[in-house]
Amino acid sequence: NTKKDKEQTTNGATNNNKLENNFPKENTEDLKEARKSLPVYLVRTRIIEEIKKHDTMILIGETGSGKTTQIPQLIHEYRLEGKSCVAVTQPRRVAAITLALRVAAEMNTDIGSIVGYSVRFEDVTSPRTKVKYLTDGMLLREAVTDPLLKKYSIIVLDEAHERTVNTDVLFGIVKLAQKERNGQKQNPLKVIVMSATMDVDSFRKYYDNCPVIYLEGRTYPVTIYHSKIKHEDYQYAAICTIFQLHTTTPANEDFLVFLTGQEEIETVMSNIKQIAKETVGPQIRVCPLYAGLPAAKQLLVWKKTPPGMRKIVLATNIAEASVTIPEIRYVIDTGVVKERTWCTRTGAERLSVVPCSQAASWQRAGRAGRTAAGASYRLYTATDFKCRRQHNIPEIVRCPLTSTVLMLIATGLDPGTFPLIDTPPKDSIHAALLLLKELGAVDNESNPKLTVLGKKMTAFPIDPKYAKILLCAPEYGCLEEALSLVAVMSSENVFHTPLHKREDALKVKQKFISPLGDHITLLNVYRAFCKAPLKKQWCRENYLNHKNLSYAFDVRQQLLLVCQRLNLAVSSCGNATDQLLKCLLSGLFTNCAWSRAGGRYVTSAGAAASLHPSSVLHGRSANPALVYTELLHTQRSFLINVSVVQPQWLQQVAPEYARRCRSNR
Ligand code: ADP
Ligand code: MG
Repeated sequence: NTKKDKEQTTNGATNNNKLENNFPKENTEDLKEARKSLPVYLVRTRIIEEIKKHDTMILIGETGSGKTTQIPQLIHEYRLEGKSCVAVTQPRRVAAITLALRVAAEMNTDIGSIVGYSVRFEDVTSPRTKVKYLTDGMLLREAVTDPLLKKYSIIVLDEAHERTVNTDVLFGIVKLAQKERNGQKQNPLKVIVMSATMDVDSFRKYYDNCPVIYLEGRTYPVTIYHSKIKHEDYQYAAICTIFQLHTTTPANEDFLVFLTGQEEIETVMSNIKQIAKETVGPQIRVCPLYAGLPAAKQLLVWKKTPPGMRKIVLATNIAEASVTIPEIRYVIDTGVVKERTWCTRTGAERLSVVPCSQAASWQRAGRAGRTAAGASYRLYTATDFKCRRQHNIPEIVRCPLTSTVLMLIATGLDPGTFPLIDTPPKDSIHAALLLLKELGAVDNESNPKLTVLGKKMTAFPIDPKYAKILLCAPEYGCLEEALSLVAVMSSENVFHTPLHKREDALKVKQKFISPLGDHITLLNVYRAFCKAPLKKQWCRENYLNHKNLSYAFDVRQQLLLVCQRLNLAVSSCGNATDQLLKCLLSGLFTNCAWSRAGGRYVTSAGAAASLHPSSVLHGRSANPALVYTELLHTQRSFLINVSVVQPQWLQQVAPEYARRCRSNR
């Protein structure tokens, strides 16, 4: 099967055929009729006039009014894109893919011709493409080589309210590109900013008081129910609600449940399957939907169930905006989201489960009213809802900006003066510059220029720290291993530990464990996975997650291609794992922790933390120095994916940083 896997990741045609198969085919005439009833379609001539008249506009319309699927189509029908192409950005890849598939179906054309999409690791477009859906990250990468985005005559920035770092930066990039292109009156650029719910005033100010167009909605009514009491355990509350609804509603009315991450989704999934066995009611198909799931698996969510079978989609917030899953009638909204925040002072990244914003709750509810009337069951009280913040906090003010700042410098822009709607804390730009300097990506912090190494880093679609690991690997003769490790680290958890078989799973895990820690353990797992002839079965027997390991396999292929393009020597260090750990440290040197009394550790940045119970080093004797992949903050701070390193290595691989953090030890 390995060879086939390989073909599917490198050959777009095979891949998108497969994707399409998971997407329902509908009658073209029916689709035409459906289009005609959408609010956007009804006022199309007015919208077209406005687009012709203005260089920039903001378009606000309720969820389901047809913004994302219809506006780009209309632009093309009226040939407003001219000889070039219209780009539509989405914060999430699953949205970019399904929207392109839907629009291609509505236009009765094959995906990848007139309508295409481009997401990380996959480009399904051709020179004929006129309507291109792409993730904000992809458009940003295109801007590195073409800051004026000359390929496009119209750029639609969709889901503006999500305020991802990438979309925020794109707002600035298109603003500058537009100024330059429209000033020269050659190849002018039009920009359309779209959203259902957003803070219009600050956007308008940012775009020099551009016009705002409001669309009347035509969504079906969605009834909102709040819990009467506060639930301590939202997973349990979700399962109760699922089965209450399951036993009282017709089977063709599907459910969408919002949870916070893959592991939670898998736990709830196995609980549902277990309970379903003991419950009378329609048959159930449970479909997971989260970012780490391969695209083909994500699309199973759109596959129709046979009559009499209920579909229950368990999703993270990637299903919160943009997407339409046709038969969804009931949304079960746990009201929480896993959010990454960052502390500039300690450098600690925190992944914590927090209440979502009101805007997010409305978006979630909006998934129910798209093809029929529906309801949203909020598993929190109305009072709780009222106390929540109205809009999402822009990612740019709470996330590390290393990748973003590197990308800006690579594009020839000054991160200090770049126009942003919300300025990130000064500290975080400074911290990013400092880290890039220490990684060797830029030559200095005050007037940074990209180094040769920095330029190479931008060739990888991954965090600069991970790119540095790969670029240093030839020096340590371990690129084979580094590629596998970075690929596995880019994927979600590869271990699958079902609650009721915990003991057994831990016993089986023993054979992969390295006393050096989690990274070598992960590498052992990956190596064994590659050798196993019957991968699915092997994973089941070894309590490993087949999906995540296959994803890592795909990612590795893509990263290998970049390494080959850069002429990096792909050699193996065999069992000289010291080499690999040193190499790991050359990218992750900011993630060191030092032993303290009582089995506790302190990070280089001065934060106290303990080993996470999932670490293979947990419960063993303390080591003077560790490198970790992630610092997770729940009630306490935990180090996740940890390996033993020699204290003197830090001085060897990152002398500047070693000097800087010595004071914290
Ligand atoms: P907006 O961007 O304004 O929220 P969209 O353009 O995404 O709205 O979708 C408009 C409507 O088109 C949806 O409410 C739904 O009725 C229909 N639609 C879109 N995508 C699909 C799909 N994959 N399957 C069925 N209906 C769809
Ligand atoms: Mg939309």
